[in-house]
Amino acid sequence: MKYEQPELPYAKDALEPVISKETVEFHYGKHEKAYIDNLNRLINGTEYEDMDLEEIIRHSEGALFNNASQAWNHIFYFFSFNPKPSCHEPTGELRRAIDRDFGSFEKFKEAFVEAGTGLFGSGWVWLSRDENGRLFLTQGKNAESPLTSGLVPLLTFDVWEHAYYLDYQNRRADALKALWDIVDWDIVSDRY
Ligand code: MN
Repeated sequence: MKYEQPELPYAKDALEPVISKETVEFHYGKHEKAYIDNLNRLINGTEYEDMDLEEIIRHSEGALFNNASQAWNHIFYFFSFNPKPSCHEPTGELRRAIDRDFGSFEKFKEAFVEAGTGLFGSGWVWLSRDENGRLFLTQGKNAESPLTSGLVPLLTFDVWEHAYYLDYQNRRADALKALWDIVDWDIVSDRY
């Protein structure tokens, strides 16, 4: 098995009440585990075995792309959170870029949640930067990733129903807005 699921850097119930222990157990423990198991099975004995995960995402399609990208996306998502982040807004260079490209941090948060709420069906909403540091909001259907457009992902919210249905049922906007309480902006700044 080439890829192993990394242990989360917090307890399964540590993100409550924003994300319940039950959701972490199903979403990370079962959904993400299945993507990683499928990825390992699909690359076994193929040319993809020697590529790193981001390379596989850039050079595959179909079931392999879907499982590789979902494996990457969920690690990126779950490793953006902290039960007790040091601050609830970005500072420094990232903050200046957000103010420049979205008008203000409040406007950015609104636009991000709106993009996530407006995505029909399953997918991800992304904040990414290009090679010049300019910020972009994108919607990705299903397993789509900014990595395939040459962007550097900074933050993502999962808008698949499995991400929030146990805790919020059909209230996707509430589920997304609640996530602002646990985003670790130090991690997002480091990615920028
Ligand atoms: Mn998910």
